[in-house]
Amino acid sequence: MKRFSKNGIGIRMLAAVALSVIAIGSMLHAHGSDEQEQGVAPEIANSALARVGGLTEYFDSTVDMDADMAPPFVGEIIPIADMVSNGDTSTLYDVILQPGHYGRTSGSTGGGGALISEQKLAAGIVERLASRLKELGHSVAVIPADGFARPLKGYVFLSIHADGSSSPCASAPSLGYDDGSDLLGMHLVAYGLGTSLGYTYNEFMNDNFTANLSSYYVYKHIKSRIFEGVLEVGELSCPEEEQLLIDRKDIIADNLAYALDAAVTIGKLAGR
Ligand SMILES: [Zn+2]
Repeated sequence: MKRFSKNGIGIRMLAAVALSVIAIGSMLHAHGSDEQEQGVAPEIANSALARVGGLTEYFDSTVDMDADMAPPFVGEIIPIADMVSNGDTSTLYDVILQPGHYGRTSGSTGGGGALISEQKLAAGIVERLASRLKELGHSVAVIPADGFARPLKGYVFLSIHADGSSSPCASAPSLGYDDGSDLLGMHLVAYGLGTSLGYTYNEFMNDNFTANLSSYYVYKHIKSRIFEGVLEVGELSCPEEEQLLIDRKDIIADNLAYALDAAVTIGKLAGR
């Protein structure tokens, strides 16, 4: 379906992630066996991995595309103001989320396509993602683009953006993250997005392919235990991709919730 540039690193990273998942799975299993006598861990470890395995696939025939999809929220104001806060520097959050450019009316306000703005798409995904994470028992902060308390502490920080390009349909989803971030966790996020959209993993751009991704302005204000990253979900200036992102936004949110839940759960088990 795509015109994405191949990047060469994707397949290698996928293999690395797959091996890491297998390695962690066996480590968790072994760890669980050790701890069984003390009545801890295996259920937690197994359920974390099972959640990753439960991602809704784009081509899953059990998904009724017409019935399950909410109508596109073109022109709709995303009512997440009551969910957004500046955060509390004394709290260690499981997950800190930021809808890209949220709340800005000047400066870097984000891009958009013919049907939806980047701010609205990001807010719509984050609204559902935050709700799902809370349902899974996680403490979540949703912060705006500016004015949040600093430094904030969390296991993971993730900002959601969507690309725009002056040459339409030349970009693709991508990941950015700060030095020291856990790559398995970040690539679980990519796997969740790719699965939602029907992309193979090597259709992503190279990790950190722009300075905005590798040195995102929020990283220095977050003390994260697992990772701090940016997910560019796709390109809104590409009409075909814009429609796909609108159609799939709820599944993207659900799958990102599974991925972040697993990343946090595994990270905590690993003593992060
Ligand atoms: Zn953006």
